[in-house]
Amino acid sequence: MSDFIPVNEPLLNGNEKAYLCECIDTGWISSEGPFVKRFEKEMAAYVGRKHGIAVCNGTAALEAAVQALDLEKGSEVILPAFTIISCAQAVTKAGLVPVVIDCEPDTWNMDVSRIEEKITDRTRAIMVVHIYGLPVEMDAVLELSKKYGLKVIEDAAEMHGQTYRGKQCGSFGDISIFSFYPNKHITCGEGGMIMTDDDMLAERCRGVRNLFFSARRYMHEEIGSNFRMTNMQAAIGVAQLEKIDEHILRKREIGHRYDELFADLQDVMLPVPKRDYADNIYWVYGMVIGSRYDFDAQEAMKRLGDMGIGARSFFYPIHRQPVYVKQGMFKNVSCPNAERISERGFYIPSGLGITDEQIEIVAKAVKTLFA
Ligand SMILES: *Cc1c(COP(=O)(O)O)cnc(C)c1O
Repeated sequence: MSDFIPVNEPLLNGNEKAYLCECIDTGWISSEGPFVKRFEKEMAAYVGRKHGIAVCNGTAALEAAVQALDLEKGSEVILPAFTIISCAQAVTKAGLVPVVIDCEPDTWNMDVSRIEEKITDRTRAIMVVHIYGLPVEMDAVLELSKKYGLKVIEDAAEMHGQTYRGKQCGSFGDISIFSFYPNKHITCGEGGMIMTDDDMLAERCRGVRNLFFSARRYMHEEIGSNFRMTNMQAAIGVAQLEKIDEHILRKREIGHRYDELFADLQDVMLPVPKRDYADNIYWVYGMVIGSRYDFDAQEAMKRLGDMGIGARSFFYPIHRQPVYVKQGMFKNVSCPNAERISERGFYIPSGLGITDEQIEIVAKAVKTLFA
């Protein structure tokens, strides 16, 4: 099916190849190569943070960030129900207890008005995750963190270049993370980065990343991981970062074009174009099927697939994940908004590699689906 339009294709039309060749020509392919430090420095400058710690992927970045905070075992971390498992497992792997918050029905972000009622004397941190295109209402989160002395972990994996009231996403948390998976605004193939202004946290993240090697090599005071990023990944990252402004303009252009093409759709929820704190960056173009239609997202994706269009379902709620349900977790938890959009939500091809012509083809298929 040569005409199939995949849900994502990255755009690699800058210096990626030249920088990769440099890795091969110089022999620097490991994490010791110069592109790693350069990528860390340039990302930190871009986001406006003191430290960037490059790791092998965004999931590892979350794990390292949570481990670096060194929270007392058994303490609670508040996070959205509607997010990727990486967020919750960073919490549970560290021996901490995840407490989920339902999402807003329209932005799909954590409903910050429900956080305070979940804070107990065991709460130690709030993990915010900016979902799909709009940032979380950070003012409310930062106020709560101050009032109750909670750490803020910020997952900005989908938000490179997005701002909240003019300030870069990824600059708000005590510790923040990015992913560079190929469907993100900039990619390394696989990659992640932790960002912080705190020297000690940064040092701990470097420790986790590299097995807590100490001055006396092969002697270790703490259990770490091998989360290192290679020079080849970083080479692609540096080239991608040179293009980030173009990438973001293009993402917004794709989103706005779909908005226009879908203006007449009935009872289908589209991304919220803006809030007073941010304009949507359209990381992915999501839609939620209204109740007038007798099919769900799984069926919609199947029908789109038959028309040659790739689509992907929304996240599955954390409190319904079989792995946690089997452990008896989240027994009386219900998050109706997250549950509904995970059944009825999906996203359509909106990666940087999509052409204008493909956008029109996708839109036509989507309109047929809802005709
Ligand atoms: C992509 C993503 C991650 C995970 O990143 P990987 O690099 O794929 O491990 C974490 N959080 C969010 C919100 C993401 O979208």
